[in-house]
Amino acid sequence: MKTLDALIRRVPDFPQPGIVFCDIAPLLADAAAFSRCIERMAAPWRDAGVQAVCGIESRGFIFGAALAQALRAGFVPLRKPGKLPPPVRGVDYQLEYGSDRLEVPAGALASAERVLIVDDVLATGGTLAAARELVEMLGVSLLGASVVIELDALHGRQRWHGTLPLHSVLHC
Ligand code: AMP
Repeated sequence: MKTLDALIRRVPDFPQPGIVFCDIAPLLADAAAFSRCIERMAAPWRDAGVQAVCGIESRGFIFGAALAQALRAGFVPLRKPGKLPPPVRGVDYQLEYGSDRLEVPAGALASAERVLIVDDVLATGGTLAAARELVEMLGVSLLGASVVIELDALHGRQRWHGTLPLHSVLHC
Protein backbone atom coordinates (compact mmCIF):
# COMPACT_ATOMS: atom_id res chain seq x y z
CA MET A 1 0.00 0.00 0.00
CA LYS A 2 1.47 3.35 -1.05
CA THR A 3 1.58 6.24 1.39
CA LEU A 4 -0.55 9.28 0.57
CA ASP A 5 2.63 11.29 0.17
CA ALA A 6 3.96 8.87 -2.45
CA LEU A 7 0.79 9.47 -4.50
CA ILE A 8 1.41 13.22 -4.87
CA ARG A 9 3.26 13.89 -8.13
CA ARG A 10 5.60 16.85 -7.84
CA VAL A 11 6.05 18.62 -11.17
CA PRO A 12 8.86 21.21 -11.24
CA ASP A 13 8.39 24.46 -13.16
CA PHE A 14 4.65 24.03 -13.75
CA PRO A 15 2.60 26.08 -14.54
CA GLN A 16 5.52 28.52 -14.53
CA PRO A 17 9.25 28.44 -13.76
CA GLY A 18 10.05 28.15 -10.06
CA ILE A 19 6.72 26.55 -9.05
CA VAL A 20 6.65 22.91 -7.97
CA PHE A 21 3.12 21.82 -8.83
CA CYS A 22 1.58 19.21 -6.52
CA ASP A 23 -0.56 16.93 -8.70
CA ILE A 24 -3.19 15.12 -6.65
CA ALA A 25 -4.51 13.03 -9.60
CA PRO A 26 -2.59 9.82 -8.64
CA LEU A 27 -4.02 9.99 -5.12
CA LEU A 28 -7.57 10.45 -6.44
CA ALA A 29 -7.15 7.50 -8.81
CA ASP A 30 -6.19 5.13 -5.97
CA ALA A 31 -9.47 4.04 -4.34
CA ALA A 32 -7.95 3.04 -0.98
CA ALA A 33 -5.74 6.13 -0.77
CA PHE A 34 -8.55 8.56 -1.66
CA SER A 35 -10.75 7.00 0.98
CA ARG A 36 -7.89 7.13 3.55
CA CYS A 37 -7.27 10.77 2.71
CA ILE A 38 -10.93 11.71 3.28
CA GLU A 39 -10.94 9.73 6.52
CA ARG A 40 -7.90 11.69 7.73
CA MET A 41 -9.49 14.98 6.72
CA ALA A 42 -12.70 14.06 8.53
CA ALA A 43 -11.14 12.79 11.78
CA PRO A 44 -10.60 16.17 13.52
CA TRP A 45 -14.17 17.28 12.68
CA ARG A 46 -16.19 14.16 13.53
CA ASP A 47 -17.73 15.67 16.65
CA ALA A 48 -17.67 19.32 15.56
CA GLY A 49 -21.25 19.45 14.26
CA VAL A 50 -20.24 20.63 10.78
CA GLN A 51 -23.38 21.54 8.81
CA ALA A 52 -21.82 22.75 5.56
CA VAL A 53 -18.49 22.16 3.83
CA CYS A 54 -17.44 25.02 1.53
CA GLY A 55 -15.12 23.74 -1.22
CA ILE A 56 -12.95 26.15 -3.22
CA GLU A 57 -13.11 25.82 -7.04
CA SER A 58 -11.98 23.60 -8.47
CA ARG A 59 -9.94 20.92 -6.73
CA GLY A 60 -11.50 21.91 -3.41
CA PHE A 61 -14.78 20.62 -4.87
CA ILE A 62 -13.43 17.06 -5.11
CA PHE A 63 -12.19 16.81 -1.54
CA GLY A 64 -14.90 19.06 -0.12
CA ALA A 65 -17.80 17.07 -1.56
CA ALA A 66 -16.33 13.76 -0.38
CA LEU A 67 -15.64 15.23 3.06
CA ALA A 68 -19.20 16.61 3.26
CA GLN A 69 -20.49 13.07 2.68
CA ALA A 70 -18.17 11.64 5.32
CA LEU A 71 -19.37 14.24 7.84
CA ARG A 72 -23.03 14.04 6.76
CA ALA A 73 -22.89 17.74 5.97
CA GLY A 74 -24.08 19.77 2.99
CA PHE A 75 -21.68 21.03 0.33
CA VAL A 76 -21.44 24.63 -0.89
CA PRO A 77 -19.12 25.48 -3.80
CA LEU A 78 -17.10 28.71 -3.59
CA ARG A 79 -16.81 29.62 -7.26
CA LYS A 80 -14.54 31.59 -9.54
CA PRO A 81 -16.16 34.72 -11.06
CA GLY A 82 -18.74 34.59 -13.82
CA LYS A 83 -20.03 31.07 -13.07
CA LEU A 84 -23.01 31.83 -10.84
CA PRO A 85 -26.26 33.60 -11.71
CA PRO A 86 -27.13 36.61 -9.52
CA PRO A 87 -27.55 37.37 -6.70
CA VAL A 88 -24.05 36.50 -5.51
CA ARG A 89 -21.72 37.66 -2.75
CA GLY A 90 -18.02 37.82 -3.57
CA VAL A 91 -14.54 38.90 -2.49
CA ASP A 92 -11.61 39.98 -4.63
CA TYR A 93 -8.13 38.95 -3.59
CA GLN A 94 -4.55 39.43 -4.73
CA LEU A 95 -2.44 36.65 -6.23
CA GLU A 96 1.33 36.80 -6.66
CA TYR A 97 0.64 38.08 -10.20
CA GLY A 98 -2.77 39.70 -10.68
CA SER A 99 -5.98 39.14 -8.79
CA ASP A 100 -8.86 36.71 -8.52
CA ARG A 101 -12.32 36.50 -7.00
CA LEU A 102 -14.46 33.96 -5.15
CA GLU A 103 -18.24 34.02 -5.22
CA VAL A 104 -21.10 32.21 -3.54
CA PRO A 105 -24.87 32.39 -4.12
CA ALA A 106 -26.22 35.11 -1.80
CA GLY A 107 -28.52 32.70 0.06
CA ALA A 108 -26.30 29.62 0.04
CA LEU A 109 -25.46 29.60 3.74
CA ALA A 110 -27.88 30.25 6.57
CA SER A 111 -26.84 32.70 9.24
CA ALA A 112 -24.97 30.94 12.09
CA GLU A 113 -24.62 27.72 10.06
CA ARG A 114 -21.55 25.72 11.22
CA VAL A 115 -19.14 25.79 8.31
CA LEU A 116 -15.81 24.24 7.31
CA ILE A 117 -13.67 25.48 4.36
CA VAL A 118 -11.80 22.95 2.18
CA ASP A 119 -9.13 23.21 -0.51
CA ASP A 120 -6.52 20.86 -1.97
CA VAL A 121 -3.35 22.93 -1.44
CA LEU A 122 -2.39 25.71 0.97
CA ALA A 123 0.37 27.67 -0.76
CA THR A 124 0.69 31.41 0.07
CA GLY A 125 -2.64 31.30 1.90
CA GLY A 126 -4.36 34.04 -0.13
CA THR A 127 -7.11 31.80 -1.47
CA LEU A 128 -8.00 30.36 1.93
CA ALA A 129 -7.98 33.83 3.50
CA ALA A 130 -10.36 35.08 0.77
CA ALA A 131 -12.68 32.10 1.29
CA ARG A 132 -12.72 32.86 4.98
CA GLU A 133 -13.52 36.53 4.38
CA LEU A 134 -16.38 35.51 2.08
CA VAL A 135 -18.08 33.03 4.41
CA GLU A 136 -17.60 35.31 7.42
CA MET A 137 -19.32 38.09 5.41
CA LEU A 138 -22.39 35.83 5.33
CA GLY A 139 -22.58 35.68 9.12
CA VAL A 140 -21.89 31.94 9.41
CA SER A 141 -20.14 30.26 12.29
CA LEU A 142 -16.78 29.32 10.77
CA LEU A 143 -15.29 26.28 12.52
CA GLY A 144 -11.99 26.14 10.60
CA ALA A 145 -10.39 24.83 7.44
CA SER A 146 -8.97 21.63 6.05
CA VAL A 147 -6.47 21.13 3.22
CA VAL A 148 -4.82 18.04 1.79
CA ILE A 149 -1.34 19.55 1.27
CA GLU A 150 0.35 22.42 3.09
CA LEU A 151 3.44 23.86 1.39
CA ASP A 152 5.36 24.72 4.55
CA ALA A 153 8.02 26.84 2.84
CA LEU A 154 5.40 29.38 1.69
CA HIS A 155 4.12 30.06 5.24
CA GLY A 156 0.49 30.34 4.08
CA ARG A 157 -0.63 29.42 7.59
CA GLN A 158 0.50 32.86 8.77
CA ARG A 159 -2.39 34.38 6.81
CA TRP A 160 -4.88 32.22 8.70
CA HIS A 161 -5.14 34.61 11.63
CA GLY A 162 -6.51 33.84 15.07
CA THR A 163 -7.24 30.59 16.81
CA LEU A 164 -9.50 28.76 14.35
CA PRO A 165 -8.08 25.32 13.51
CA LEU A 166 -6.46 24.73 10.11
CA HIS A 167 -5.74 21.04 9.46
CA SER A 168 -3.52 19.59 6.75
CA VAL A 169 -3.12 15.91 5.89
CA LEU A 170 0.31 16.24 4.26
CA HIS A 171 3.17 18.73 4.46
CA CYS A 172 5.39 19.32 1.45
P1 AMP B 1 -2.56 30.17 -2.43
O1 AMP B 1 -3.66 31.19 -2.54
O2 AMP B 1 -1.23 30.72 -2.84
O3 AMP B 1 -2.53 29.51 -1.07
O4 AMP B 1 -2.85 29.05 -3.51
C1 AMP B 1 -3.78 28.06 -3.25
C2 AMP B 1 -4.53 27.65 -4.49
O5 AMP B 1 -3.69 27.57 -5.63
C3 AMP B 1 -5.14 26.30 -4.28
O6 AMP B 1 -6.49 26.37 -4.71
C4 AMP B 1 -4.31 25.34 -5.12
O7 AMP B 1 -5.15 24.51 -5.88
C5 AMP B 1 -3.47 26.22 -6.02
N1 AMP B 1 -2.02 25.98 -5.86
C6 AMP B 1 -1.12 26.89 -5.43
N2 AMP B 1 0.12 26.40 -5.44
C7 AMP B 1 0.02 25.13 -5.88
C8 AMP B 1 0.97 24.08 -6.10
N3 AMP B 1 2.28 24.23 -5.88
N4 AMP B 1 0.49 22.89 -6.53
C9 AMP B 1 -0.82 22.72 -6.76
N5 AMP B 1 -1.75 23.67 -6.58
C10 AMP B 1 -1.35 24.87 -6.15
